[in-house]
Amino acid sequence: MMDAAYLLARFDGIARGSTLQSYGCSRTSLAAATSAGTILRIRQGVFALPTVDAAVVTAAAHGGALTCAAALRAHGVWMLPTPDDQVHVWMGRSGRHHSHEGCSCTAHYSPGSATLGLAPVVACLIHAYRCLDEEEFFAAYESAWNKRLIGAHDRARIRRELPRAAGWLLDLARPDAESGLESLLRLRMHLLGIRLDCQVSIVGVGRVDFVLGGRIILEADGKENHTHAKRHADLMRDAAASALGYETLRFDYAMVVHDWPTVVAAILPALGRARS
Ligand SMILES: [Zn+2]
Ligand SMILES: [Zn+2]
Repeated sequence: MMDAAYLLARFDGIARGSTLQSYGCSRTSLAAATSAGTILRIRQGVFALPTVDAAVVTAAAHGGALTCAAALRAHGVWMLPTPDDQVHVWMGRSGRHHSHEGCSCTAHYSPGSATLGLAPVVACLIHAYRCLDEEEFFAAYESAWNKRLIGAHDRARIRRELPRAAGWLLDLARPDAESGLESLLRLRMHLLGIRLDCQVSIVGVGRVDFVLGGRIILEADGKENHTHAKRHADLMRDAAASALGYETLRFDYAMVVHDWPTVVAAILPALGRARS
């Protein structure tokens, strides 16, 4: 007889009892595994491994699949920090809502039949457009594209299902954004009417993160530890860039994400100097 926990692991840890039974797991063995605690009964006819993510369990208790930011993150999509304690659930076109303890879920009804577990990336992005702001959506969309989690067919579907107002974001998106920070900067520079080139090779300087308006080098310092050697190399690059007529501005992730006004206040006068 098929072991319930072993079989559940093949379904990413969560499945309907009817599915498990169709693979040879009897009602009796499901009941035995539940009372032994090797599997959990989430609601009538739905079972999960005890290791399954709590938000996925809540979504299944509600009647659907986890979607939006938490699901995108679980799929490996880069997300801006979005503080949201609510579980977002994809209910399919008209899935039945099951009441459960402590429910504060946000339900999304959209075409397709919702499964259990994680909603597919394409559905998550369609839902996330309504729940995230434009920047958060844009960064997630570019990340999903860059990681090849969505293909041409998916992108066409996203464009079809999102409101017309989303068109400009989809037009601006590119598959080669190497980081969420790059997505964020390109979107913000676009809104300021400033051209941004990413990962530019400058002879005599090397590869720089971004060039703004053709003249300003913007380096986004990551979390890697700044050794003395790294700092020396950065200063040498800045000197070489200055000799070629570039001005270098350095920001870290926290400044771009949490203190944008300070970043803009540094960029705009530098662009003015470069143009004059
Ligand atoms: Zn709920
Ligand atoms: Zn949502």
